[in-house]
Amino acid sequence: MPTTASAYAAFDKTTPLGPTTITRRDPGPTDVQIDIRYCGVCHSDLHTARSEWPGTVYPCVPGHEILGTVTFVGDAVTKFKVGDTAAVGCLVDSCRTCDSCKAGLEQYCLNFGFTMTYNSPDKHLPGQVTYGGYSSSITVTEDFVLKVPATLDPAAAAPLLCAGITTYSPLRHWGAGPGKKVGIVGLGGLGHMGVKFAHAFGAHTVLFTTSAGKVEDGKRLGADEVVISRDPEAMNAQAGSFDLIVNTVAAPHDLDPFVGLLKRDGTLVLVGAPAEPHPSPSVMGMIFGRKSIAGSLIGGLPETQEMLDFCGQHGIVCDIELIQMSQINDAYERMLKSDVKYRFVIDISSMR
Ligand SMILES: [Zn+2]
Ligand SMILES: [Zn+2]
Repeated sequence: MPTTASAYAAFDKTTPLGPTTITRRDPGPTDVQIDIRYCGVCHSDLHTARSEWPGTVYPCVPGHEILGTVTFVGDAVTKFKVGDTAAVGCLVDSCRTCDSCKAGLEQYCLNFGFTMTYNSPDKHLPGQVTYGGYSSSITVTEDFVLKVPATLDPAAAAPLLCAGITTYSPLRHWGAGPGKKVGIVGLGGLGHMGVKFAHAFGAHTVLFTTSAGKVEDGKRLGADEVVISRDPEAMNAQAGSFDLIVNTVAAPHDLDPFVGLLKRDGTLVLVGAPAEPHPSPSVMGMIFGRKSIAGSLIGGLPETQEMLDFCGQHGIVCDIELIQMSQINDAYERMLKSDVKYRFVIDISSMR
């Protein structure tokens, strides 16, 4: 018998989110049932709730930075037991047969077979879409559930599941480490984690921000230097010196100034998804210096676990503002003004 859960949902693209009751599947042999304690608030939640990206099905229950306590495990589950702290990120299933899935890169599933944590067709409850973490419980196959180191503050660890892995993965893939100069563009939910990770990996870390008010915070978070990207002189002083720049800004903007900061063979990685395209970059800027512009999407399950374990070893969590479920609509408005340091996390117990 499917079970019910309390949730907060968007019912259309304009009205505020409000309380509802949703159906969760009865746990199968490989399923883990989790009582959700905390859920981070990602920009994707807002975009989806308000139909700013195509394809939102209502009611829509967002949330893909989920952390909670295991309350039930199926007979065939081996990695989890009741009482464990567990987490769920942006994906809850994938095709599991393509080359990407077999390589543990489920986010690049070649069959477009991955099931997102919310607003994807639900394989188990036909006719329904998946519902995310703005809810009291979730049921997920154990292969898509992550272990959370006991040393981490659970509320502040929740946003590691999207904001954390989205910056960890490109920094790892493109080799951020000692002897490398790494830039992080933007100091929001993603950017502040990018700074923490690049610093923890031992790279010379430079934060680019448009806001002079963020200089001190950037340094506190681990940046060796903070550059105001609107200041052409400060930008020129950094020309041709970066191995890697991870750009977290989701608003369309001119990429050429950042390409100009790369060394020969350097890479500018885009992790923000703008609703409108960026202006086309100058080809000249790329061919003189064999430079690359690349993209990166969250991380696969093995790398997400690696990231959580790394955070456990190094004491890394997100800087958060804990909110009640009923404050979510205000939180969306503040997020639009970048008025959050640096991630809202919902205390799901406030909904019970
Ligand atoms: Zn997200
Ligand atoms: Zn696949």
